Amino acid sequence: MTVGRVVIKAGRDKPIKQHHPWVFSGAIDRLDEAIENGAIVDVTSRRGEFLARGYLNRRSQIAVRLLTWNEAEAIDAGFWARRLARSIELRDKSQSAQRLVNAESDGLPGLVVDRYNDWLVIQVLTFGLNQVKDIVVDRLNELLKPQGIYERSDVDVREKEGLPQYAGLLCGDEPPELIEIEQDGCRYLVDIRRGHKTGFYLDQRDNRRKARAYCRDAEVLNLFSYTGGFAVPALGAGAPSVVNGDSSADGLALARRNIALNGFAVNDTDFVEADVFSELRRLRALQRTFDVIIADPPKLAQSQSQIERAARAYKDLNLISMQLLRPGGTLITFSCSGLVSPDLFQKILFAAALDAGRDMQIVEKLSQSGDHPILLSFPESAYLKGLVCRAV
Ligand code: SAH
Repeated sequence: MTVGRVVIKAGRDKPIKQHHPWVFSGAIDRLDEAIENGAIVDVTSRRGEFLARGYLNRRSQIAVRLLTWNEAEAIDAGFWARRLARSIELRDKSQSAQRLVNAESDGLPGLVVDRYNDWLVIQVLTFGLNQVKDIVVDRLNELLKPQGIYERSDVDVREKEGLPQYAGLLCGDEPPELIEIEQDGCRYLVDIRRGHKTGFYLDQRDNRRKARAYCRDAEVLNLFSYTGGFAVPALGAGAPSVVNGDSSADGLALARRNIALNGFAVNDTDFVEADVFSELRRLRALQRTFDVIIADPPKLAQSQSQIERAARAYKDLNLISMQLLRPGGTLITFSCSGLVSPDLFQKILFAAALDAGRDMQIVEKLSQSGDHPILLSFPESAYLKGLVCRAV
């Protein structure tokens, strides 16, 4: 099979040699017109030296996503099978709900595979990966023998790739309305058809476990609670009450069911359907205070141009949260915006503490769960960061 060639501009080969998996369109010197989007291409220097091999999409700013730096490695059905097997092999086999494939970080750009017991949920995020979707689905069936594979490619980024959004069953049995999963002794019902992402925020698993240590005997405010991911372990750790705030009625309804499923009492007053930013002001006006506040907002910076606005929102959220903390209280606060660096996030927290008039200590730094690995050559894969701060 002949492979098309993409020639890189002089001086733009360094990141490629350092195994960064993206080639931006601006780095391309020459590209054969005849090569179709989705095709496998060899990326070379102007002198014709082989640099890497990947798949092309002219429509995207990320024109080539690199798959291998080994010239002898062909991108054929065997390649995809090996990469999938490697990714799955590296996971903790004792977990029944986890991310099995984390895109670029697992050498499979454009592909996410999450497991919820006997069902797999996949996201296909790029044109090139979409071309091999059938191969991927066949291999996943062979490797894992799931009861069904469901696709949740109903995400905006597909448009940048020239792909329509799609969600639906790909093979096997229709999943039940809700799938029950277990994580670190907590039971959760997951709606893989309509839930956020592939149904559940698997990336917060390790942090939910770590949060327990702060919740014993604590009155907890759980902001951006979604389906109760943090509420259940907080109650499990012995929190006498957890107040959950979210703007999603569906999320809160499932949070109630999850709390009941784990054997805890469901009090109507513990579920507040509201905009968190207004709710915090209301609580401040009422002079309500808490021992622990968990703040896990959605991605507030989607692009470079939104960083400043996002920083203001993070500051506002954390400033008022700090004001609601009792002396010695703990704020467990997150940012899942990859564009907000850990350094910037810490600076935002510092600014918030100053304006809140509170002295705060960082007692723990948090990241994404281990099944969402961060590739050293691809720092963009680090997106979730959290700080556990104590009011002194
Ligand atoms: N902590 C959750 C995940 C939170 S995801 C867990 O452990 O599973 C972010 C949540 O924020 C979503 O449920 C979304 O509905 C909610 N949300 C987004 N903007 C909001 C706002 N302005 N006010 C309240 N909730 C908001």
